[in-house]
Amino acid sequence: MPLLSPDFYFETYAGASASFLKEQGICALVLDIDNTLEPYENARPSEGVLAWFSSLGEAGIRAAFVSNNNKERVDTFNESLGFIAYPKAKKPFAGKIKRAMREMKVTKGETLFMGDQIFTDVLAARLAGIRCALVPPIKDKTDALTRFKRWLERPIMKRYFRRKNKNV
Ligand SMILES: [Mg+2]
Repeated sequence: MPLLSPDFYFETYAGASASFLKEQGICALVLDIDNTLEPYENARPSEGVLAWFSSLGEAGIRAAFVSNNNKERVDTFNESLGFIAYPKAKKPFAGKIKRAMREMKVTKGETLFMGDQIFTDVLAARLAGIRCALVPPIKDKTDALTRFKRWLERPIMKRYFRRKNKNV
């Protein structure tokens, strides 16, 4: 699998349903927070996110947060959930993803990472040696750097969809 290409692409986090994950042999999710589960301005998970987590929990699927955002952001978001959580993870470095996996006592094959950024999330998952799902950012920033990153991502996503269409 190419270094920057995701294994799965979902319209929203909910695409990673408990039944889909089970089918893939996945029993642990490592998750980005910002723009993957909620936009930056939402300090806490929505009802939808909480319902999704409880359906995962009922299926025996564990979850951990690995975020590049600060401790306060991650702690507040995680307050009602109490998952294993690492702020300031410095993705695309894979250290905190590996640590979350060790803490959850799961193997690489059993774990899926989900995030919204190719150059941080997908790359970090690849470097950790695990599969990765990409979602489009919930509320994208419009600054020049973000627009430039999106422009760089375009051919990667084109290739992903070309390959996927060939496989079905
Ligand atoms: Mg993000």
